[in-house]
Amino acid sequence: MNRSDAERIRTVLNSMGYEESDDEDDPDIGIKGVVSCSVRQKAIDRVYGRIRKWNAQRSRRSFLTFLTGCVLPVDQKKFRELFDIVFPIDTLMDFPDMICHYGVPTPISSLARPVPKRVDQNKNAGRIENFWSIKPSYTSGIEAYVPIQNGCNKFCSFCAVPYTRGREVSRPSEDILSELRQLVENGCRSITLLGQNVNSYGLDSHELSFPELMKAVGKIGVETQKRFWTYFTSPHPRDITRELLEIMACYDVLAKQIHLPLQSGDDRVLSRMNRNHCMDRYRQVVQDIRRMLPDATLFTDIIVGFPGESCEQFERTAEAMREFRYDMAYIAQYSPRPGALSSQWEDDVSKVEKERRYRALNEILRSEAMKVNKERIGKRLTVLITGRHRKEGFLTGYTEGRIPVKIKGSSMGIGNFVDIVVTSVKELSIEGTAMASTADQAS
Ligand code: SF4
Repeated sequence: MNRSDAERIRTVLNSMGYEESDDEDDPDIGIKGVVSCSVRQKAIDRVYGRIRKWNAQRSRRSFLTFLTGCVLPVDQKKFRELFDIVFPIDTLMDFPDMICHYGVPTPISSLARPVPKRVDQNKNAGRIENFWSIKPSYTSGIEAYVPIQNGCNKFCSFCAVPYTRGREVSRPSEDILSELRQLVENGCRSITLLGQNVNSYGLDSHELSFPELMKAVGKIGVETQKRFWTYFTSPHPRDITRELLEIMACYDVLAKQIHLPLQSGDDRVLSRMNRNHCMDRYRQVVQDIRRMLPDATLFTDIIVGFPGESCEQFERTAEAMREFRYDMAYIAQYSPRPGALSSQWEDDVSKVEKERRYRALNEILRSEAMKVNKERIGKRLTVLITGRHRKEGFLTGYTEGRIPVKIKGSSMGIGNFVDIVVTSVKELSIEGTAMASTADQAS
């Protein structure tokens, strides 16, 4: 999401004549900024470190600093004293005016200011629609992120998103589909639909439902006859329906990869997390995925050390990891997020114990993923080539299931789909050799 936000910020700054620099310490830089994430305290701590460094540099040369992205109200207050400009991302359209307050010349080309479609009903919806109407300056020609939804109504007790991003707003379907069609026609090969609660898309409006949107994406694949993979993240297990899985099974352009956050394998912890589903429901979803999309890879998110999580409850999460055999898991040690309900509860699992649980789950992830990967040896898989490997003579890419791949050979171009035979595996990646004449040139 941050990368996607940054692509729109780039458009705005380019419209003012700024160019991007790869070197943060470049003396010619006129403005430096952060697109922050509030999911964990660690990320916010890094923002503090970065702005202190920049403010120290400002005794030698002058530049503006800005902060946007997900920032909790409590942090916003402190950051206002450290950054020149702090703004909610949905007010990006006003960013040039904020910069001009500092005496920077008027924008070279002004951004079009569309009339928000729903401003009368919902001020937030109008602001975020303005934001979405800014054309992103994509970082890559082959991989793109397309925001489809913003905010969340679920209020998981550990999460700050409803406080940083507000309530759910779905982007108009026609805008999403037109952006996606354009990307596909320009040769984009991998598109990720983004939202904080992506599969509740459409619940707040009369837009298409999420399965209907995915079906419309599938039809773009059929109509254009282009080859591409469409992903979505992050969904909530409650909103994964059989209808969605049926549609995913019907269209080649809907990638067979599902990110299904588990968070905890214990019903009582899930209930205190306000996840509003139990393990039986989660298990049912996984069974449906395995039955209807047998080749799909499964990713997850897990929190260890949630307030009150006993050793026994943690063991249930460990058991669930063995049962579901994830291809990838993003495991986090709990940290209280100010404003979220759980921040009022005692953070009573010690740091040492959180670390132990974190390591234990990582070990399970690695050993289970290794078993799954070993079953892939000798198989033929399609890979999207995304870059050069640091080792000479190899390329990097990923499978439809987003398993990272090291590919022997260097003559195939980035952006191609190529079929490989898997020759060896590691815990979280595989290695393979390209089969002759399978490269599919990007258009
Ligand atoms: S569903 Fe996701 S974004 Fe929404 S509150 Fe829960 S964890 Fe946060």
